Amino acid sequence: MSRIAYVNGRYCVHADAAVHVEDRGYQFADGIYEVCEVSEGRLVDERRHMERLKRSLSELRIPVPMSMPALSIVLHETVRRNRVIEGLVYVQITRGVAPRDHGFPPAGTPPALVVTAKSLDRARIDRTGHDGITVVTLPDNRWERVDIKSVALLPNVLAKQTARERGAREAWFVDRDGRITEGASSNAWIVTAAGELVTRPADHAILRGITRTVLLEVIAAHGLTLQERPFTVAEAYAAREAFVTSASQSVQPVVRVDDHVIGGGKPGPIALTLRSKFHGHTEFS
Ligand code: PMP
Repeated sequence: MSRIAYVNGRYCVHADAAVHVEDRGYQFADGIYEVCEVSEGRLVDERRHMERLKRSLSELRIPVPMSMPALSIVLHETVRRNRVIEGLVYVQITRGVAPRDHGFPPAGTPPALVVTAKSLDRARIDRTGHDGITVVTLPDNRWERVDIKSVALLPNVLAKQTARERGAREAWFVDRDGRITEGASSNAWIVTAAGELVTRPADHAILRGITRTVLLEVIAAHGLTLQERPFTVAEAYAAREAFVTSASQSVQPVVRVDDHVIGGGKPGPIALTLRSKFHGHTEFS
């Protein structure tokens, strides 16, 4: 079975799927995206992901390409045509195709829409969840509006590559005050020696992760203590536990930050509990 992609109104064979060379996503990274987990063939937290998508579009003044119910049908149809049971669905919207010019294209230029879906090896993700991952810290050199889920990800790309070259799975960005903002493609969390969960408030310095938002509910439901405040690299080194959250890996324990082993090198009980409870609090559609 060949993979199928939705590109500007058509379902096409993924291998041949293409956008125009003057697509503003390609020319200027002038676009936004969303990634939604697929579990048991259903979308996880579609409503929240679509709310964030609308917000990203409105912050960049890109029109919504079609009604939200129609977009939902395209997402489900792309998942169905690719027979994804466990995996991800990806949506990208750019400011459309127009002769290259930095200013916005003429009013009425339709935004460009691409939707793809892929299967993931759930057993492999669960193994990593069992073993935990290593992260490295790097200076946060991104712009001031990383709360918008834009496709302009060059600093994230370079940070992830540096992490890989150092044998790590994720990079944690550090602001000028020595405080962690978030991961290259995830939100960052620690558990202090006193057993309190700490994660950075969702201001303009991080993406308000959907997994993060749902986890706040899980934490409240289980009576755990949470502090939404920035934490330093030193606090991360001294943490009892650490983990990252994202739609593609829910709660992923961290067992090493730079050269510092966390929690004796094993995923901590709070991270593992939150991981196991997470899908009990998500919406499926
Ligand atoms: N921060 C960044 C920079 C990300 O790319 C992601 C993954 N989309 C996240 C946080 C986590 O967001 P979510 O839980 O919505 O996947």
